[in-house]
Amino acid sequence: MINVSSSHVNNVRQVASAARIDLLGMTFEELTAWVMTQGQPAFRAKQLAGWIYDTLTPDFSAMRTLPAVFREQLAATASIVGPQVQTELLSKDGRTRKLLLELADGRLIESVLMLYPASSEGRARATVCVSTQAGCAYGCTFCATGQMGFDRHLTAGEIVAQVVHFARDLREHPWQAPDGATISRVTNLVFMGMGEPLHNYDNTLKAVRILNMAEGLHIGARHMTISTVGLVPGILRLATEPLQINLAISLHAPNNTMRLRTMPITRKYPIEAVLDACQQYVARTNRQVTFEYVLLAGVNDAPDNARELGRLLAPLAHLGHVNLIPVNATTAAYRPPSGEAIRAFRDILHGAGISNSVRAERGDDIAAACGQLRTREERRQRAAPTMV
Ligand code: SAH
Ligand code: SF4
Repeated sequence: MINVSSSHVNNVRQVASAARIDLLGMTFEELTAWVMTQGQPAFRAKQLAGWIYDTLTPDFSAMRTLPAVFREQLAATASIVGPQVQTELLSKDGRTRKLLLELADGRLIESVLMLYPASSEGRARATVCVSTQAGCAYGCTFCATGQMGFDRHLTAGEIVAQVVHFARDLREHPWQAPDGATISRVTNLVFMGMGEPLHNYDNTLKAVRILNMAEGLHIGARHMTISTVGLVPGILRLATEPLQINLAISLHAPNNTMRLRTMPITRKYPIEAVLDACQQYVARTNRQVTFEYVLLAGVNDAPDNARELGRLLAPLAHLGHVNLIPVNATTAAYRPPSGEAIRAFRDILHGAGISNSVRAERGDDIAAACGQLRTREERRQRAAPTMV
């Protein structure tokens, strides 16, 4: 594990107080309206957005094309810095950068940048995994975040800020992909960090619009994936949005009895209701659905479980893909299966006509599953003797 200093980020940091207005939480329309309330003409909003999202400057005083008086107004009343970096980690292979961020109220969240070389699936890419909540209310037993309980929803600005941070980071430290390509911008987003995005529906969708807007980072909705524990009303609502965003469902078991043991939400929304909502999602958006299946040795990884999963998903085989994820052990209770057990599981699913892949383990040396870094940090703080 390499701990890279965050000072290069913080030396340009301004103090973000609650009184300041967070420009990262504004759509372009809102930014324009706000700029006009500051006595500036509407076209200044475009200039300002250019400085924030194209030039990626974190410092209002450097925005040369804005009148000095407006720059001073901005510095006094607005913020574009987002949460403060508490820890920044780089995996040994240099392909995973992970942040522990401190929100204005002291809560901690995690964000990750994952760098992927070109493959049969496409060009090299830089994917940011964002958190949508501090903690999570759903208590999945294998999930470090779930074990913390729920603190609060993140604002749209706090979600956007995580991506802007990595956009700046990649601009300053581009990644040289093995195929010779230089990756200096964020290409993909996954809402798979801490929290349940559809529980924080409005702020998550607002962040999607801000990140998608032409005057912003302009990341295509087709390059974004929202992962959900299976909140049926949220899935159905998302289906009505004029956005072609990808949907990932945390399934993790082939039947309700087994799912209930690790995912309490199953009591409220059984698998059948979730799969029905997925069908409606695909029908309305034309996007595929990914089913995530965390493999827990001795819990849900037996050949019989694979056969049952195959039967369950057979009617949806043409709509989706299964992503098998060997669990990142967060407690002694769970272990990933052996390579042999994973191969056997895959073969059975393939035999049932279900397309599937195993998600490559990433950044294990830097507490890969979201929530693990914060858990480790909080344990460390509790263990540390207080200085008097
Ligand atoms: N709340 C949403 C999104 C955040 S979790 C959801 O549950 O889908 C993102 C993904 O990481 C989910 O599929 C989740 O089940 C998975 N996950 C949680 N803990 C994990 C662990 N210890 N190892 C591997 N994957 C984990
Ligand atoms: Fe929450 Fe997702 Fe973790 Fe479940 S897996 S506790 S829904 S963050």
